[in-house]
Amino acid sequence: MTLLSVDQARERILSQFQPVSTETSPLAACSNRVLAQNIVATNDLPPFDNSSMDGFAVRAEDVADATNDSPRSLRVVADIPAGSQPTISLARGEAARIMTGAPIPEGADTVIPVEDTNFDNRDAGVPAPQEVQIFRSAKSGWNTRLRGMDIRAGEAVLSKGRVLKPQDLGLLAMLGVPNVLVYRKPRVALFSSGDELLEVHAPLEAGKIRDSNSYTLAALIEESGAEVIRLGVSKDTREAVQALLEKAVELKVDLILSSAGVSVGAFDYVKQVIEANGKMDFWRVNMRPGKPVAFGEYKSIPFIGLPGNPVSAFVGFEVFVRGALGRLSGTSNGIRPTVRVRCEEQIDSDGRESYLRAHVQEKDGILFARLTGHQGSGNLHSLVQANALLIIPAGVKCVPAGQELQAWLI
Ligand code: AMP
Ligand code: MG
Repeated sequence: MTLLSVDQARERILSQFQPVSTETSPLAACSNRVLAQNIVATNDLPPFDNSSMDGFAVRAEDVADATNDSPRSLRVVADIPAGSQPTISLARGEAARIMTGAPIPEGADTVIPVEDTNFDNRDAGVPAPQEVQIFRSAKSGWNTRLRGMDIRAGEAVLSKGRVLKPQDLGLLAMLGVPNVLVYRKPRVALFSSGDELLEVHAPLEAGKIRDSNSYTLAALIEESGAEVIRLGVSKDTREAVQALLEKAVELKVDLILSSAGVSVGAFDYVKQVIEANGKMDFWRVNMRPGKPVAFGEYKSIPFIGLPGNPVSAFVGFEVFVRGALGRLSGTSNGIRPTVRVRCEEQIDSDGRESYLRAHVQEKDGILFARLTGHQGSGNLHSLVQANALLIIPAGVKCVPAGQELQAWLI
């Protein structure tokens, strides 16, 4: 067994993954999908000069001297609701009632909000007045949104590899992109192994615990934008392990992920079965928790075996699997947001790169971290109480209070 640094192990794993194929998806189904094309705007946004206020489109020069005490009176020659296309051209001394989002008519260069006129009746259905008094001046361009001020036709707006956010979908709709080329969702077969594991609905029995890893890991997989296929729990026999692996092959998944059964225990068959049908590297990684990680392939499908302890499985996912899923998905977003935090109290470590459960809180503009509860790798409660994984670098045995460290927000 080799002892690898976290970076070495992560690099070895990442190098084995390539993006999956692409597919066209209707825009409405693209939230959180990874863009597989560059998007270039084919039209200006906004597509035409329009008003940002309900009011009156005027010529700025006509109202240059207008004040509350000495308003300027203009003849209203048109009424322009949103969605219409004005055909008039404003001459000197003329105004047009205009609604937010409606095109600015020719000749006008600014909009006076209704509040700054004597026409303050904004009820639906009220016709435009014949004449309007303007109570203030306005600079040319005020309260207008000019064609192309947001985006110009030909401008690159979204890049391949981007995980599409809700606002991106809105922008794609604005640009008239009804179908988007995205990466297909990677498919991950997930199973737990262990004779001690019970289903969640089963009453506790002597010597047994409930399978929690498959719930945590399935949720992490889905949150990463992949599809999870839950194969359930395998008993600690060669046949049971092999049956699940065969199922994963049949389902043509992109990755097989398991928890437990890859240590050196007498009943850890996962390793043996995979070695017999593919290849398996079994590493000790210089990290805590989650030292043992298995990586290999079963009948040409990549396999990652995480440790069985619930916190180790979680940390192993964050450190190794999230990045692998990112690669498969076509994005480089394989890591949690990282922040710098200040340790509230002294933290002792054992020299391994450590991912400790911590609660991070802001005080006077500084993020402070304190550890949550028991840090043993079986204690899921302290992970539930944490909002961050505090990273203690390899080689560090003591972090004094007040020192800054990196943390992943979880
Ligand atoms: P193993 O890697 O099989 O030696 O398991 C390490 C520890 O993790 C043991 O205490 C197991 O009972 C526990 N464990 C294994 N699988 C799961 C699971 N799916 N859910 C919760 N705990 C587990
Ligand atoms: Mg076991």
